[in-house]
Amino acid sequence: MGQSPSYQCNYGCGTDIHFDDDVKSESGKSIPLESSGEPHNCPKNPYNSGKKSTGSILAGRQKPATMSDVDIKGTLSNIQSRLKSIEDKLTAVLANNGVE
Ligand SMILES: [Zn+2]
Repeated sequence: MGQSPSYQCNYGCGTDIHFDDDVKSESGKSIPLESSGEPHNCPKNPYNSGKKSTGSILAGRQKPATMSDVDIKGTLSNIQSRLKSIEDKLTAVLANNGVE
């Protein structure tokens, strides 16, 4: 079992990709795979953002989890920390009102 060499994605997204002879698209072209073995659905690929794919075998199978997942996690933790500070203030206000 030879190790396939890995490359940086040539769309500039910074992901390491490699190719597997067993994994090819309908047209017979090798599909770039991520280190996890998942097909690389590049966010910078003009084909992904531009036209809707009609015949991609990847589109249906792979859930588009790329940049947006990271964004959501960051936003969520931001919201959580804000919510926490609001909660603290609210608790303080309620406590004050209750006493007086
Ligand atoms: Zn890429």
